[in-house]
Amino acid sequence: MGKNYTRTFARMKELTGFNFDDEYNSKKYRVFINHPFTPSGFSCYPDVIGWAAEDRWPNYTTVYLWHELMHHNVEFCRECFQGRRNDEAWRRLNHAVIQLLTDSELRVCFNGGSYHPWEGHPNLHKTMELLLPEWRKYLTSENKNIYAFVDRMEGLFYDKIVEFINQEKSSVATKG
Ligand SMILES: [Zn+2]
Repeated sequence: MGKNYTRTFARMKELTGFNFDDEYNSKKYRVFINHPFTPSGFSCYPDVIGWAAEDRWPNYTTVYLWHELMHHNVEFCRECFQGRRNDEAWRRLNHAVIQLLTDSELRVCFNGGSYHPWEGHPNLHKTMELLLPEWRKYLTSENKNIYAFVDRMEGLFYDKIVEFINQEKSSVATKG
């Protein structure tokens, strides 16, 4: 990431509240780069990140490498070491927060523009919209802590996210 890494590191520290200096958040990852012919990004516990894409907009790769890294730091870390619930709604909540953090906020920091139209996985957009008012408040708060934010959103919106998932499943079932 080079220059972009220096540029984004301070911002990501501020947005997450991570120092990136403890045992978990400073760990090293193996990043597998593939041909962008089949665009994809993924993360696997404990230390794998896969990436294959062309820049669809400026700094696209930097934004999405942070996105993948946050799967480890925000999501897997808690499932594996803090015994957090690991079900579809909880994963969706985390993923939507990761997209607000990177696909939305980091992209706008770099490139200007606005969150809308949403970037990232389309099936998360409804959840991102749901979280957006609270996310805006979080951005203006001091001493941010992304874990505390996820926990608070879980308290407020977990049931609503379960409802979204059930609606999607029943609409798929109806379509056959
Ligand atoms: Zn993701």
